[in-house]
Formats: sequence, structure tokens, C-alpha cells
Amino acid sequence: MQNFDFSFLHVRLLDIVDVLLVALILYYVYNLIRGTIAVNILLGLVIIYFLFKIVDQLHMKLLSQMLGGFVSVGFIALIVVFQQEIRRFLLLIGKNASLKKTTWWTYLFDKKGVQETTFAHIKPVIEACKTMQASRTGALIVFAKYFDEQYYQNSGETMDAHISKRLLESIFQKYSPLHDGAVVISDGKIKCASCILPLTDNENLPLHFGLRHRAGIGISEMSDAVAVIVSEETGEISYAKQGRVKTNVGYGELEKMLNKDA
Ligand code: ATP
Ligand code: MG
Repeated sequence: MQNFDFSFLHVRLLDIVDVLLVALILYYVYNLIRGTIAVNILLGLVIIYFLFKIVDQLHMKLLSQMLGGFVSVGFIALIVVFQQEIRRFLLLIGKNASLKKTTWWTYLFDKKGVQETTFAHIKPVIEACKTMQASRTGALIVFAKYFDEQYYQNSGETMDAHISKRLLESIFQKYSPLHDGAVVISDGKIKCASCILPLTDNENLPLHFGLRHRAGIGISEMSDAVAVIVSEETGEISYAKQGRVKTNVGYGELEKMLNKDA
């Protein structure tokens, strides 16, 4: 009987931890880019890499040199191309580590308390959505966990207002000077209104999605923010998170998602 020599395999506990951590990171990254245009970009990069490997093996000098140049700066290219995803990933880590708002033990032991405090600032938003849906008033409400002051306030009107149903309705009312653009809510307050947000480049969106929807999806792509969109045309409520959009959202579902994400 043949004996295999596995003495070269020294698996330490730390190696297992190492592999598990890498798996966890890959899972997080996959979750962040699933269903977004980042997947297409990643696919493009993988194709270029394999193309390079093939032409390199075939000794096609000119092409392999060209692609090789691209591949050799691959890491920097990755950072540039996935800037938004990396930003979101870091925000996610930072947010989970921060003890500012809700700590892991409040999640574990004080679920009720967490639920009640979040509910208080979400309720007026949902009530306002109901009215705006009924009156076909277009609205774009962004919930930012991390409020990048300079980023948002450059384009919008700075506020620091208590969230109320009537205030939201007044802002989005057609003749209000602030109705164009997005309201940004952070830390339980309306931080600014009439903000111009980045538009998504995603091409696989429903045809009737115009700029309002594209702006809501855009901000959820590039930050950890979620966006609630009330359509002026159809009255339909949509919810954007991590570059993905859920259409035709009901109030119960909206409340649940906001309690979780906002
Ligand atoms: P709706 O279903 O309400 O018509 P839509 O997705 O079709 O929404 P548009 O009809 O293009 O979108 O909506 C135009 C409105 O979207 C503008 O009046 C403005 O309030 C808002 N908007 C457009 N661009 C931006 C932007 N970059 N950031 C924030 N809001 C924007
Ligand atoms: Mg429209």
C-alpha cells in the first residue's frame, strides 16, 4: 500500500481563520456588487485578464504587450474602477465598528428599544409617502447613515429640521422652490433638500425610470444610503439600496426595510 506524505501540510488554526476571513470578505464583496453594474465591470476585467493569458501563451507579442500593460496596473485600475464599491465597503466596516448609534449588544439584547427609536423618524416619512402617492407628487428621500456634509450641501439647501409629514409634503409640493431634487435624512433629521444626486449608469432599468429614479439608484450605488422614490407619473413607490431597486413597494414593506436600513 502506498503511503502519501502530507508532512508539507501544516494547517494551523490561524490558517483556518485566515481562509474563513477571506471567505467572509468575498461574501461581503459579492453582496455589495450583486445585481449592480459593478458585476459587468468585474466581468470585463476578468475577460481582459484571460485574453491576456491566452495571447501571452500564443506568443502574440504586440497584443500581449498591450494587454500586459493593462494587467500590470490592474490593482490601481481596480481601485479606480471600483472606487464607489470600495467606499461603500469601508463605510460598511466603519459603521459596524462604530458604537455611536446602535451597538451590537443593543441589537442582541434590546431589539425592542432599537425598533422604537428608529420607528419614530420613519413614521412621518411613510405617512408623507402615502399622501404623495395619492396626490401623485414626485419625491426622492434619501436616508444616509453617514452624512457627507460637503458632498450633499454643495448642491442643495442646508436644513437641520425635525422630520414631519407636513414638512416633507411641503418640500415636494409642485410649487415649492425646494421640490426639485432630493431630501437627505441623516441622524433622524432632514439635513438638506433639493440636493442633486449622481445618476446611475445602469442600463438594465425599466424604461419608464427617468432622472428621479436614476438619481435615487445612483446615490445608493455610491454610498451606504438608501433612497425612497415616489413616482410623479405612476404614484409607485420604489426603494433603492446598494444600486438595486425594488419597485411597487407597499407601506408595510417600506416600513420594514427602513427600520432595517435607515
Ligand atoms: P417620475 O416617475 O416621478 O416621473 P422619473 O424617474 O421619470 O420620475 P423624471 O420625470 O425625469 O424622473 O423626474 C425629474 C425630476 O427628478 C426633477 O424634477 C428633479 O426633481 C428630479 N431629479 C432629476 N435629476 C436629479 C438629480 N440628479 N438628483 C436629484 N433629483 C433629480
Ligand atoms: Mg418622469
